[in-house]
Amino acid sequence: MTSQISDSGQFVLGNVRLHRSLTLGLAATFDTDGFALADITVANGRISAIAAHKKSKAPADAIDLAGRIILPCFVDCHTHIDKGHIWPRKPNPDGTFMGALNATGTDRAARWSAEDVAKRMDFSLRSAYAHGTKALRTHLDSVPPQEEISWPVFETMRETWRGRIELQAACLLGIEGVRDTKWFEKLAKRVAAAKGVLGVVTYMVPDLEELLDKVFSEAIKHRLDLDFHADETDDVAAISLKKIAEAALWSGFEGNILVGHCCSLARQPDLDVLDTLDKVAKAGLAVVSLPMCNLYLQDRRADLTTPRWRGVTLLHEMKARGIPVAVASDNTRDPFYAYGDLDMLEVYRMATRILHFDHPVADWPQAVAATPAKVMRLDGFGMLAAGGSADFIIFKGRSWTELLSRPESDRIVVRDGKAIDRQLPDYAELDELMVD
Ligand SMILES: [Zn+2]
Repeated sequence: MTSQISDSGQFVLGNVRLHRSLTLGLAATFDTDGFALADITVANGRISAIAAHKKSKAPADAIDLAGRIILPCFVDCHTHIDKGHIWPRKPNPDGTFMGALNATGTDRAARWSAEDVAKRMDFSLRSAYAHGTKALRTHLDSVPPQEEISWPVFETMRETWRGRIELQAACLLGIEGVRDTKWFEKLAKRVAAAKGVLGVVTYMVPDLEELLDKVFSEAIKHRLDLDFHADETDDVAAISLKKIAEAALWSGFEGNILVGHCCSLARQPDLDVLDTLDKVAKAGLAVVSLPMCNLYLQDRRADLTTPRWRGVTLLHEMKARGIPVAVASDNTRDPFYAYGDLDMLEVYRMATRILHFDHPVADWPQAVAATPAKVMRLDGFGMLAAGGSADFIIFKGRSWTELLSRPESDRIVVRDGKAIDRQLPDYAELDELMVD
């Protein structure tokens, strides 16, 4: 089948399963899992038609997929491909958040040359592409002097990958870095020049409100979207998500704001949670949960006892209030997460288990496609539609239980109407970067 899809500019995929939440304009009867059988016609790299499947009406030369699921290509809105794959040379000594921060800081200062960052980034992008990702936002550690090294690498990488992965970047620094006003203004200017996103990690520092004001005013000045890491801790006193919402309302900010993690929210008293969620909804914030990384780092216990909470934030309560919610990869094979391969099917599978994206599945699949696409301002991404580009993934699974029970390593990724080469890069390629 792969060759049939690769060789012809025009074909019909008949008898496929499409999900209601990720398909536009399909007039069909959807089952309780949200699926309907359909035929997709592809011509010249685009989807020319999506129609309900009727055996009698399917064209004779249609490729019969016997009910296999097709989803649009993934959108991964929160990653760290500048950190990715340093694990072999700099593991996390104890699996804690502080262990991750310190190990990464040491490795960055010693080894993140432009060449080192570029090779690891490219490795990550090849993996993401092979798994079916079409757009990806990475954070870039931007503490001096790294910002001068990593941003030019990102700009080159974005050009190299244009047409395969739409690449975005947000700067990453602890909020205390904003105190150096002159330097932060220079960074915001650099980010704007790269058409990037302004990002910081918020902590409960005494001058948090003042520093957030500065972040918002720089974003307004340069017309930048914002992307925060907030409250990645079990400390109930961590309420920077609320502070970000308040700053957004106070400043009248009109750009997009994405906030990642928000773990402590799940530990706070109900009344406080309700107040925060009201403000988050009113301020129009979007939230991304990073279930795999949170599961790894949160509730890690020094005495080696068993973790007792999942680490994720309150996505169901947020979604019920109309707050756009997504899940994403976060770190891959670095001190913040020892595993991962930028496979958004794995992220969705893990999210289903950790966050209960089931019973009902409803429109949760949007959390890895249409919703992050909107947050990233990517028109037409993360949704199947007639007239849209023919960028989708053909799975073996015919139901959620089949799709999410196996790795689906043999999925077919179609880009611009052609099946791509899905060969994953070999870890051995990175060996030369791992020696002292
Ligand atoms: Zn992150």
